[in-house]
Amino acid sequence: MRAGFPDFRLGTVLATSFTGTLSERHGDAVERIPTPQRLVDWLALNGLAVDSCTTAQLELARELRESIHAAATAAAIQDALPASAVQVINDRSAQGRAAAVLTAEGKRRWRLSSASCVEDALSVIAADAISIIAGERDGRLALCASPSCQAAFFDTSQSRTRRWCDMNTCGNREKKARFKANQHKNFSG
Ligand SMILES: [Zn+2]
Repeated sequence: MRAGFPDFRLGTVLATSFTGTLSERHGDAVERIPTPQRLVDWLALNGLAVDSCTTAQLELARELRESIHAAATAAAIQDALPASAVQVINDRSAQGRAAAVLTAEGKRRWRLSSASCVEDALSVIAADAISIIAGERDGRLALCASPSCQAAFFDTSQSRTRRWCDMNTCGNREKKARFKANQHKNFSG
């Protein structure tokens, strides 16, 4: 991790890990990809390594991120998908040329058309978002119960009752807040 920049939250679902690079959207928002280099770092950690990234490519990435967030949020509350968000997701999906390749160890890897092609990486993320929003994968889209977060996340738990986008951050904070509120009640009552 590079010093001075907020850490990444690493989830298991590519599209919602990506939307998680902006957190606390309803509080003090934290931008986790503030520079093109941080997007390069994030992509490398998610199996989509690129050599470099321009400011324009970072802008494309953020536009895709907010479009996925908007569409996933609408899907989670069974609202109509915002047309502009759908357009951006589809454009990014169509404008990349990433190929899935199988390794000798039986793992899937993404091969980008060139090492500087952030657009290829974004197309993989857009396609991942499409599969979730379209209900093609086993799980349920839900919104984080933390009022300052409300991030859309993909619940793959057996019971489909997960409440927080991330147990280590939002989940813990809620637990602590509840504990404090209870203590206060005990002292004042
Ligand atoms: Zn959350």
